[in-house]
Amino acid sequence: MLLESFISEAMPVIILTTVISIALALLLWGASVLFHVEEDPRLQDITDLLPNQNCGLCGNPGCRAMADAILREDAKLTQCKPGDQAMRDEIKEYLETHPDESGEFVKVKM
Ligand code: SF4
Repeated sequence: MLLESFISEAMPVIILTTVISIALALLLWGASVLFHVEEDPRLQDITDLLPNQNCGLCGNPGCRAMADAILREDAKLTQCKPGDQAMRDEIKEYLETHPDESGEFVKVKM
């Protein structure tokens, strides 16, 4: 009796919560499809070539932001204090062989 009463009272709440959850999930999925931004694949590659200490010594809030600044020609590779010459050479070589989708190369600042 008590169980039947609980189920009959709780069921509408459970159904409503489930419907709202599904609607919100669909809304988030739609927004992610609608506002999807194509990312430059070099961004992740440059980030991976940096030391990934996220120390901020380069003046950026982390290695990914530093990689973005390098791609925008807004940072020198020597700004990364933990990075050594081998790292700089590797990034320079990568950028000299990987243009953007319009064929433009990044002018690497050492
Ligand atoms: S200084 Fe180098 S290791 Fe530190 S956040 Fe900048 S890029 Fe990353």
